[in-house]
Amino acid sequence: MKKNVIVIGSGVGGLSIAILLAKKGYEVTVLEKNASFGGRGGVFHAKGFQFDMGPSWYLMPDIFEHFFSLIGEDTKDYFELKRLDPSYKIWFEEQKKPVEMTSDLKRDAQLFESYEPGVMKKINIYLKEAAAKYNISKNTFIYKPFNNVLDFFDKRTLFLWTKFSVISSFHKHIATYVKHPAIRKILQYPLLFLGTSPYKAPAVYSLMNHIDFEMGVFYPMGGMTKIFESLHSIAKKNGVKFIFNTAVEKILVENKKAVGVATKEAKLSADIIVSNADYHFTEMHLLDKKNRQFSEKYWNSRTMAPSGFIIYLGVDKQFDSLKHHNLFFAEKWKEGFEAIFKGETLPESPSYYICAPSKTDASVAPEGCENLFVLVPTTTNLKLDEATIKAYRDKIITHMIETMNLEGLEDRIIFERVFTGHDFSTLYNAYKGTALGLAQNLMQTAVFRPKTKSTKVKNMYYTGANTNPGIGVPMCLISSQIVYKRIHGIMHGHPLSAEDTKFKTK
Ligand SMILES: Cc1cc2nc3c(=O)[nH]c(=O)nc-3n(C[C@H](O)[C@H](O)[C@H](O)COP(=O)(O)OP(=O)(O)OC[C@H]3O[C@@H](n4cnc5c(N)ncnc54)[C@H](O)[C@@H]3O)c2cc1C
Repeated sequence: MKKNVIVIGSGVGGLSIAILLAKKGYEVTVLEKNASFGGRGGVFHAKGFQFDMGPSWYLMPDIFEHFFSLIGEDTKDYFELKRLDPSYKIWFEEQKKPVEMTSDLKRDAQLFESYEPGVMKKINIYLKEAAAKYNISKNTFIYKPFNNVLDFFDKRTLFLWTKFSVISSFHKHIATYVKHPAIRKILQYPLLFLGTSPYKAPAVYSLMNHIDFEMGVFYPMGGMTKIFESLHSIAKKNGVKFIFNTAVEKILVENKKAVGVATKEAKLSADIIVSNADYHFTEMHLLDKKNRQFSEKYWNSRTMAPSGFIIYLGVDKQFDSLKHHNLFFAEKWKEGFEAIFKGETLPESPSYYICAPSKTDASVAPEGCENLFVLVPTTTNLKLDEATIKAYRDKIITHMIETMNLEGLEDRIIFERVFTGHDFSTLYNAYKGTALGLAQNLMQTAVFRPKTKSTKVKNMYYTGANTNPGIGVPMCLISSQIVYKRIHGIMHGHPLSAEDTKFKTK
């Protein structure tokens, strides 16, 4: 008889593990508390606009290609990928003219050299190391099912450690190559993608600069939602059953073995359970105390990735000054990170991000209009009343108008929605309203991250951003491959291969 799997949650982690296991012949049911799939990668439509709710940067196309080919599919059959040029535009508070980054090193070099003559020689060395870190990590610790610290000590990981800066401070690593504050900021900001601060992250994450500068920034036409739509339709094609609007309320455990779940309406039995719901929520709310790996004290001692103050704007005008991705970098850079990670209020002088996908894709806004996604990273656990939210929204929009030459923006807004940490908690059960999950600082990376397999409950697994390898859509695709490996006793650190899975159909 076929083994029965229940997946809790239909974020990218839930969708991808459902596909892998269905292709292996398991009977898979996904239970999702919300009305649709995608989790943080959800989408909504209003007044003719389409808004991707969370992810907007399609990075690491190689990870997507590998996952799709592993399951016998091709991304090209599901969406058209566009490489963005420029990759993004940056306004610096301390500098009048904005700059554009292209992920074409020859072009970007001119900018870097104008800031710091001679710096390219050093940046080239820095990026060579970043590329090596990316390529080696992909075959050592990113895809590795970690059991304990000893797993770190294999030949290839040791090579990485001894040859390159890995666990030293990321920002000190950059400082040895680059002096100019603007270049340092450009090299440091991608750490926010990992929900961490460049002042707390290990130097191994300079691999993010390889991804940013050398691999490029992409966009799936039709919106980021195309990624989640395609995974959902592939899952259905492979027989996965989806039950929406159904929250799991309890994981049923007998003799230390997961045997099923309870929802408001029913009890469903399972041979294997994979939770894609928030790790803290799963442990503290769905499992009895004796079956938890971690205590509330443990979770409280963790550093959570920032929350977000998001404004979705539908505007009946197009603004030439914006590109697809736009960043504002505040002058007080280090203080900005402190406000996000240690502060207790909305940041006073924030760095922030605006996505205008309608610059690339006419299908996401009515003709002549623009859809804007404004994201201000904030500290977690904020309790915001309506007046505070309104005042902060006004402050950010005024700042955008003045800084980015968006004259008349306020009068051209025909739709708007604000989304805050409270919404992350209620919509996704996110711990402390974090937008991204556990920050990827040194002590919350690789072997130090909560594992994909429970040490307390047999047949209970975790996939998604809070476990290995970490935050971001491509990382969650990898997370599910690690879960697949664990279920099938595959312990190597390479990407999962056709040889490992032996799926029947290509
Ligand atoms: C604002 C924002 C911007 C981002 N930008 C990018 C980007 O540009 N590029 C990128 O790659 N990544 C980005 N990310 C990160 C990326 O979106 C996430 O890391 C990834 O989508 C997380 O997926 P996940 O598998 O962990 O699950 P989640 O997306 O967290 O989904 C978990 C699912 O579990 C469900 N669930 C929770 N509790 C229950 C329950 N009791 N019963 C049933 N279901 C339950 C939730 O409703 C949810 O659908 C961004 C995230 C945010 C929020």
